[in-house]
Amino acid sequence: MVLRGVFPGRFQPIHWGHVKVIEWALQRLDELVIVVGSAQESHTLSNPFTAGERIEMIRAALEDAGIDRSRVLIVPLADIYMNAVWVRYLAMNVPRFRYAIARNPLVVRLFKECGYEVLIPPPFERGKLSSTNIRKMMLMGSDEWRSLVPPSVAKIIDEIRGVERLREVAGRD
Ligand code: NAP
Repeated sequence: MVLRGVFPGRFQPIHWGHVKVIEWALQRLDELVIVVGSAQESHTLSNPFTAGERIEMIRAALEDAGIDRSRVLIVPLADIYMNAVWVRYLAMNVPRFRYAIARNPLVVRLFKECGYEVLIPPPFERGKLSSTNIRKMMLMGSDEWRSLVPPSVAKIIDEIRGVERLREVAGRD
C-alpha cells in the first residue's frame, strides 16, 4: 500500500518553511496530500488569499523547489467548526492515508485521537519563516518578505496585487 500522509495548513502564503516540511515529509512517505485548510476564507488580515490562489502558489512553490508533482496532491478544505469531527471530515475528502504531518498542537491532538500516526517536522527557521511574519512585513511596506517565499510565489502575489489587497483590508493605503 502507498505510504501516504496529509499536511494541513492555511498557507497564507506558502513560504520556504512549508516547502522544507514538504521535502521532509516526502523523504519519509511515497505521497503527500497538502490540505489547503480554511478554504472558505479570503480577503482578511489573517487569510488574505483565496483557496484557488493558494493552490496556484503551492504548485508554483513545488515547481521552484524541484519537487516531483506526481507525488503531491493539493486538496482545498473549508473549516467545519466542530473539532471533534474535523479529522473524519478531512479523511472523507482525501485519498486514504496513514500519517499526518503537523506541528500545530490542536491538529496533532485531533489526528492522534482518531488513531493516525503524527509525524512532527522540526522547526525550519520558525522565527523568520512564518506566514504571520510575511503578512506583517507586507503591511509594513517592507520588501523583505520576498526572500522568504519561492520566487514564483512572489510573482503570483504581485500579479494578484496581494500586498495592495492586504493593506486595503487593513485600512491602509
Ligand atoms: P499554517 O500556519 O499554514 O501551518 C501549517 C503547518 O506548517 C503547521 O503545522 C506549522 O507549524 C507548519 N510550519 C509553518 N512554518 C514552519 C516552519 N518554518 N518550520 C516548520 N514547520 C512550519 O496552518 P495552520 O493554521 O496550522 O493550519 C491548520 C488548518 O487546519 C487551518 O486551516 C485550520 O482552520 C484547520 N483546522 C480546522 C478545524 C475545524 O474546522 N474544526 C480543526 C483543526 C484545524 P506551527 O504550528 O509551528 O505553525
